[in-house]
Amino acid sequence: MEKEEEEMREWCLALPKVELHAHLNGSVRDSTLLELAKQLGDKGVIVFEDVKDVIMKNGRSLPECFQLFELYHILTTDHDTVTRITKEVVEDFAMENVVYLEIRTTPKNNEAKGMTKQSYMNAVIKGLKAVEAVEVVLFDSNSRTDKPLTCAPSSELGGDVSKKKIYVKLLLSIDRRETTLAALDTVNLAMEMKDQGVIGIDLSGNPVVGEWETYLPALERAKQLGIPITVHCGEVANRKEIQAVLDFCPQRLGHVCCLNDDEWKKLKSLMIPVEICLTSNVMTGGAPSLELHHFADLYNVKHPLSLCTDDSGLFSTSLSNEYYLVASTFGLSKAELFQLAQDAVEFVFAGDEVKKTLRELFRRAEKELTT
Ligand SMILES: [Zn+2]
Repeated sequence: MEKEEEEMREWCLALPKVELHAHLNGSVRDSTLLELAKQLGDKGVIVFEDVKDVIMKNGRSLPECFQLFELYHILTTDHDTVTRITKEVVEDFAMENVVYLEIRTTPKNNEAKGMTKQSYMNAVIKGLKAVEAVEVVLFDSNSRTDKPLTCAPSSELGGDVSKKKIYVKLLLSIDRRETTLAALDTVNLAMEMKDQGVIGIDLSGNPVVGEWETYLPALERAKQLGIPITVHCGEVANRKEIQAVLDFCPQRLGHVCCLNDDEWKKLKSLMIPVEICLTSNVMTGGAPSLELHHFADLYNVKHPLSLCTDDSGLFSTSLSNEYYLVASTFGLSKAELFQLAQDAVEFVFAGDEVKKTLRELFRRAEKELTT
């Protein structure tokens, strides 16, 4: 690695960051995936040798990504595994100075394992509470009395080293394979769990599966209840759906890859914040290349956006790496990267107390990182 690149990568790592688009399953560590696959292989559920190479590989092809994606679903069918991966995913994000994280996951019913959507989510929350390496702030009320956030361990007089601290919020995903009733269940669950860190609703899944009209009643219900919504939009060129999503006007949109000129115009006039996932879009073909990614267009017109990983495990990336890619591809300066990271605070689904704390954290980090 060139010295310059190394220095920039270190700077991106030190930068406090806000992650708004991260799927729990897709963010699992490769080492954990390998271990879980080995266990399932021993039980005869899968053939370990078939998946071993794909798990260990860096820079996977699209079919390999889909193969892994299937594997995630096979691996995360019991409560203990869900708890374990949640804990690890939060630790991994905190270790690279993500100070606020919204994790999204699809609550699953699995009768054979005695799993309900509610018990699945309880396993997720158990994972958040099991984190020891860093301090997890799950509820807004905690932020009022706690010490200020630190983005790196700081040595205080007397040798006390304070832990890194991370705000974690949960988004419940509606999977595009689900029925209207199942989607409504998820929205009701989000409402029931709003005091346990559940803060919003996401629509995701295979973009060529299902119809917008199926999920609309659930999304309308979430809107009525005042639950913020983010939608995976334009992963494929489905004109009718893109139009309907823009008309629905969710609080945020993910990806927005395949928009035509009119849709771009509409998106920009609506100023809906966009979760930009560079590596994911290039690897899945949503964007032709990094250089030609629509980030540049949106950034140049000052459209609200935030950099995100989507599936850091699946795509072998990290949020720090996404910031580095923006610097190396589009030539943003450190001051501009800092501003980009800071702006994301305004698009979090958490309330004003959390935003205030995050704004303060960025203010304190600014001097150190941009001079
Ligand atoms: Zn996604």
